[in-house]
Amino acid sequence: MPPEKPHWAHLFREVVTSGLCTGCAACVVACPYDVLSYDDSHGRYKPFHLDESGGSEDCTYGERGCTLCTRACPRFREWEPEVDAFLFGRERADEEVFGVSDEVVLARATDPDVSAAGQDGGLVSALLIYALENDVIDAALVSYLEGDGTSWKAVPGVARTREDVLGAAGSRYTYSANTLAYSAAVEQGAERIALVGMGCQASAPPIMAARKAGKVARRFALSIGLLCSKTFDDAIFDELFAERYGLRREDMVKMNIKGVFQVWMRDGSYHEVPLKEAHAWTREGCKLCPDFAAEHADISAGGIGAFGDFTLAIVRTDRGKELMSQMVGAGVIEARSSTDDPAAVELLRKLSRVSRRRWPEGASKGPRRLAVVSG
Ligand SMILES: Cc1cc2nc3c(=O)[nH]c(=O)nc-3n(C[C@H](O)[C@H](O)[C@H](O)COP(=O)(O)OP(=O)(O)OC[C@H]3O[C@@H](n4cnc5c(N)ncnc54)[C@H](O)[C@@H]3O)c2cc1C
Ligand code: SF4
Ligand code: SF4
Repeated sequence: MPPEKPHWAHLFREVVTSGLCTGCAACVVACPYDVLSYDDSHGRYKPFHLDESGGSEDCTYGERGCTLCTRACPRFREWEPEVDAFLFGRERADEEVFGVSDEVVLARATDPDVSAAGQDGGLVSALLIYALENDVIDAALVSYLEGDGTSWKAVPGVARTREDVLGAAGSRYTYSANTLAYSAAVEQGAERIALVGMGCQASAPPIMAARKAGKVARRFALSIGLLCSKTFDDAIFDELFAERYGLRREDMVKMNIKGVFQVWMRDGSYHEVPLKEAHAWTREGCKLCPDFAAEHADISAGGIGAFGDFTLAIVRTDRGKELMSQMVGAGVIEARSSTDDPAAVELLRKLSRVSRRRWPEGASKGPRRLAVVSG
């Protein structure tokens, strides 16, 4: 029997239509024949195959041997142990429920403009600015708000300057497939690209590299992950915030999630919406996601913990470690040990475990096994 060459028909059946697809768009940017596109309308956030070359369920290029989309997909088959082995050279130990890491620290930008723009300590923005200004990367794939921001529609985009980075700072809790901005970055001449995104996206660069997905894989020079237990459908703005709480999206200035949905309005008022009420608007692609802690990023960043003006950072790879240490040396971030906030690390473990239990039993074994053995 010739070796199997899994392609779009396999991805469509095993990931896109099985509930495992997160909408990360890695398959779309990896396709060398441009026969995959992306639907972000009506809360779908899914790839689809263009009709002319095989229809929705098959691919004529795949039939002829192209396997790029399955090699780029961070949910296809044994993605988790494959990336663990590629990034860390070993299998994950049972207790490493939030992924392999070198250390967990609390960090914030020392530049007050950066920390003020950031969602938590502005660490992610500080990392991008430092990497852009010190010849580590040429561009970063981030998330902006569409138009003047009043629609709160999160859209992927490219950041090449400090101003771009600050314009994209802060968190939006609807989905933004930042990976999709890859082509625009390349068109602008970028060869070394950073990807900012939740775990579903952060696993894309290393799975592409592990499965040798070509040029696209080689251009990803840095992956910054955001801790995440879910994103919400865009409909949440009208159907929950506006209809039940009278909070119109065009009057909102900032949002955060700290046990509740926190909402700050243009008139200076502050409101809380219980998370329980928001669950009905959980985005489809998040329902089976096992990765709270962006387990395959170089550095993962989150807002849990007692120090609201710090970002909790999980430093995972040598690349991440080197960058953090250079930035502390240059005085652009200050860092403190996570031993200052043991409850934050405990919560990180707990939330990681909760997400891992969502991975379905019939799918690949990695995520499910850890959910069970880690207690
Ligand atoms: C959808 C979502 C859910 C999250 N859930 C949690 C959680 O449950 N627990 C937790 O501890 N932390 C969570 N975070 C992470 C947290 O909100 C902060 O992003 C993180 O602490 C970094 O803060 P910062 O000040 O260092 O980042 P900043 O300097 O503010 O930079 C944030 C970066 O994230 C990008 N970004 C913003 N929104 C999105 C989006 N929707 N999709 C992709 N990229 C985006 C921005 O473009 C920017 O580059 C979540 C973030 C997001 C986007
Ligand atoms: S998880 Fe990502 S790469 Fe895999 S099929 Fe879905 S959008 Fe494509
Ligand atoms: S829960 Fe977060 S990391 Fe998982 S699929 Fe949803 S957006 Fe991606």
